[in-house]
Amino acid sequence: MVHWTRRRLGLAAGSIAAGMAMPGLCLPNIARAQSRARVVIVGGGAGGASAARHLAAAARGSIEVTLVEAGETYTTCFFSNHYLGGLRSFESITHGYGRLQSEYGVVKVTARAVAVDRDARAVRLSDGVVLPYDRLVLSPGVELIFDSVPGYSPDAALIAPHAWQGGDQARRLKQKFEALEDGENILIVPPPNPYRCPPAPYERASIFAHAMKAKGHAGSRVIILDTKEKFAKQGLFQPGWESHYPGMVEWIGVDMHGGVLEVDAAAGTVTTDLDIFEGALLNIIPAQRAGAIAQECGLADAGGYCPVEADSMRSRLDPNIFVIGDSADGDDLPKSAYAANSQAQIAALNLLGDLAGTPLAPAHYINTCWSMIMPGESVMEGGEYAPEDGRIANVRGFISQPGEDAAVRLSNFNDSLAWYDMITTDMFG
Ligand SMILES: Cc1cc2nc3c(=O)[nH]c(=O)nc-3n(C[C@H](O)[C@H](O)[C@H](O)COP(=O)(O)OP(=O)(O)OC[C@H]3O[C@@H](n4cnc5c(N)ncnc54)[C@H](O)[C@@H]3O)c2cc1C
Repeated sequence: MVHWTRRRLGLAAGSIAAGMAMPGLCLPNIARAQSRARVVIVGGGAGGASAARHLAAAARGSIEVTLVEAGETYTTCFFSNHYLGGLRSFESITHGYGRLQSEYGVVKVTARAVAVDRDARAVRLSDGVVLPYDRLVLSPGVELIFDSVPGYSPDAALIAPHAWQGGDQARRLKQKFEALEDGENILIVPPPNPYRCPPAPYERASIFAHAMKAKGHAGSRVIILDTKEKFAKQGLFQPGWESHYPGMVEWIGVDMHGGVLEVDAAAGTVTTDLDIFEGALLNIIPAQRAGAIAQECGLADAGGYCPVEADSMRSRLDPNIFVIGDSADGDDLPKSAYAANSQAQIAALNLLGDLAGTPLAPAHYINTCWSMIMPGESVMEGGEYAPEDGRIANVRGFISQPGEDAAVRLSNFNDSLAWYDMITTDMFG
C-alpha cells in the first residue's frame, strides 16, 4: 500500500465526514451536504458495473459514482463458451458503458487503478489522476497466478490461451480451436480451487466436443488433465459426455496423472508424472487469487482472497472499502457473475445506508450456475446464502439430477439464455 500525504494529494477533508455529522441524515439529504459523497468503484465487470448501476439508481444523484475500468468495453467471460462453440458472436458478449453514463449519471473513467491510499482515501490511476473517495468498491476480478503451472507465462498464454479473462484471450482460443484438423487433440488444464466459475472448464470441454463432433472430427479428443481429484457437477458432466460424445472427452484427475510437471506451449505438450501428453491446442487455466489492486492495498489474506463482512460485503480490514465479486472470499458462495451481481446489490444497499446513517439492509445472496452439456441441454446448480456465524453460508441448495428429461434440460438451457439478458441489463442498464 502506498503512503501518500494528504498535502501531496491535495485532498480536502473527506466530504462524507461533513455528511455523517448531520444527525438523522437520510439518503435524499446526502446531496445537501457541502459536496456530494464520492463513491469510486474499481472494475466494471459483473460486480463493479452492477454496483455502479444499483448505487446510482438508488441514490438518484445524491452521490457521485465514478467507475474506473481499464477497458473501453467489457466482454463477459460468462457465455464465452457459447462464443467458442459458435452459438454467439463476439459482439453479443461485449457491452459498453454508455447507458450507465447517460441514464444513470455514472462517471466512467477508462484507466487502470494502480494504487489505493487507504489512509488518505484516494485511488491513483495509470494516467496519474488521483480520485478521492468516501467509500471505495473493489471488484477487479481475479489475477491469474501464471507460475502455478510450471512453464506457463503471459507469453505462453499467447500460444496456449487460458481464456479466463478478457475478450482477447477468448478470441485467440476460438481461432486456434477453429484451425484444428480431425485427429488433433485439445488438452485442458483446469485450475485448483478456489477459482472463477468452477464448472466452466468442463462446460468448455463439452462445447469443444460438441463442435468437433458436428464437424465430423471423430478422431479428435479433449483430454482434461485436472489439478483436482474431483470437479463441479462431475456426476452430471461425465454421463453427458458418455452419452453425447462417447470416447471424445477424457478426464484424468491429479491422483491419476500425479501432477502437471511442465507445460511447453510451443511444443504443444503437457508433462505429468504419468506421461507426456500432446495437443494441437492447449487451454491452460492457472490458479487464481484476488485482483492485483485488492492485494496490493493489503485487503487479501493468506488464502489470496479478501475477507468480507458476511452481512454487507464490507472489507474486514477496512471499513471504507467494500470488496465484491471474485476478489472477495465469499465463503460458501461460488465465484460467479450471478453471485457478483447479488453481492453488488447487497454492497450498494449497505454502502448507501452507511453514508446515510440508516440501518443495514439484511443480506440474502443468490446464485445459479447453468452449464451446457450441449446446446439445448443444460444442467444447473445454485442456492440461497445468508450470514451465519459470521460467514456467508449456503442455506438452501439445488442441483440437477442425472437422467433428467430432455424437456427439463432444455428449459434449463432457455433459462440460462434469459438470465444472460437479465444480468447484462442489470449491469449496464
Ligand atoms: C469460461 C467462463 C464461463 C463463465 N460462465 C459463467 C456463467 O455461466 N455464470 C456465471 O454466473 N459466471 C460465469 N463465469 C464467472 C464470471 O465471469 C465471473 O465470476 C465474474 O465475471 C466475476 O465478476 P467480477 O466483477 O469479480 O470480475 P470481472 O467480471 O472479471 O470484472 C473485473 C473488471 O475489473 C477490471 N479491472 C481489474 N483490475 C483493474 C484495475 N486495477 N483498474 C481498472 N480496472 C480493473 C477488469 O478489466 C474487468 O473488466 C464464467 C467465467 C468463465 C471464465
